[in-house]
Amino acid sequence: FDMFVLAFVERFFRPTFRKDDFVLGKKLGEGAFGVVYKASLANPKAAAKQGDLVLKKATEYGAVEIWMNERVRRACASSCADFVYGFRESKSKGKGAGEYCLIWRFEGEDTLAGLIQSKDFPYNVETKILGEVQDLPKGLERENRIIQTVMRQLLFALDGLHSTGIVHRDIKPQNVIFSEGSRTFKIIDLGAATDLRVGINYVPKEFVLDPRYSAPEQYIMSTQTPSAPSAPVATALSPVLWQMNLPDRFDMYSVGLIFLQMAFPSLRTDSSLIQFNRQLKRCGYDLATWRRSVEPRAPPDLRRGFELLDLDGGIGWELLTSMVRYKARQRTSAKAALAHPYFKQEGLLGLSFMQ
Ligand code: ADP
Ligand code: MG
Repeated sequence: FDMFVLAFVERFFRPTFRKDDFVLGKKLGEGAFGVVYKASLANPKAAAKQGDLVLKKATEYGAVEIWMNERVRRACASSCADFVYGFRESKSKGKGAGEYCLIWRFEGEDTLAGLIQSKDFPYNVETKILGEVQDLPKGLERENRIIQTVMRQLLFALDGLHSTGIVHRDIKPQNVIFSEGSRTFKIIDLGAATDLRVGINYVPKEFVLDPRYSAPEQYIMSTQTPSAPSAPVATALSPVLWQMNLPDRFDMYSVGLIFLQMAFPSLRTDSSLIQFNRQLKRCGYDLATWRRSVEPRAPPDLRRGFELLDLDGGIGWELLTSMVRYKARQRTSAKAALAHPYFKQEGLLGLSFMQ
């Protein structure tokens, strides 16, 4: 009851906006279900107060994305980009116009995808997180500490979502933004997310997966759960279904592939990741088999990745193989991964005991 009153009061006092209140800036992205722009408030005083914003015009999945963002803001705000407001656009005449508008704070220019593509990765990330260039010799151990810090931040954000009952389903470097305000990575784009505890957007055959990062299972619920229960039934049943099916492990596979791309310079391009996926499939999705097949004639870039993951008795490799596994129930959870020995060693700023 208290939560209900709080939610009501919060909603009542939060500013409300409509489309004409915003001036659109440059286009940041365009997907199948919406267009994203940098934006600001048209009123100069209000704009100065609010700062830069991001506006997404979304079509059919906009309502779900608003719902997910509202829920994240209340339950695990630090996991995702700061959500400001979401609303349904007043009916526009032209067809194909976005039906929903979503507004976030502009977190910064850099996605993990952009940062990973740079020749300077992972040192560019170190500079962002620490706020200054470190004058230290470059080398595997330093790179490992940077990658470890990114992984910790990603798993922390994912654990927040999963503990709330949300599975993202589209975890990839393009959907990870560096927040200049908090100097941490946050997750964005809840357009494909599902909340299994409440049964929102549980449409297993409808969603579109990104084949580059998605786990081998086609649907995140097992085929023994043939159709979506109606929302009220799902509310009662879904904690059990969650336990049975471990849908959060879908995201764990994707975050494992991000770890892989950070460790192996030669797997950072789309085409090399696609080729890796093909190889892994041929190896029965067994990373150890894949390693045996490629390591003997591995070019230096690939060998360097193995070397990094082999540091400290191979705990990095151990963590990677606990995430990238064929069977969902054999994959580690975000919470368990955070307790993995890989994170016991010191990260950047000696943050090993913090998020
Ligand atoms: P989609 O993938 O559906 O086009 P996203 O929500 O992933 O939409 O946003 C597209 C791009 O816009 C992102 O890859 C990122 O570059 C940028 N972006 C999205 N949200 C933010 C934000 N809060 N702050 C800064 N940039 C953002
Ligand atoms: Mg996206």
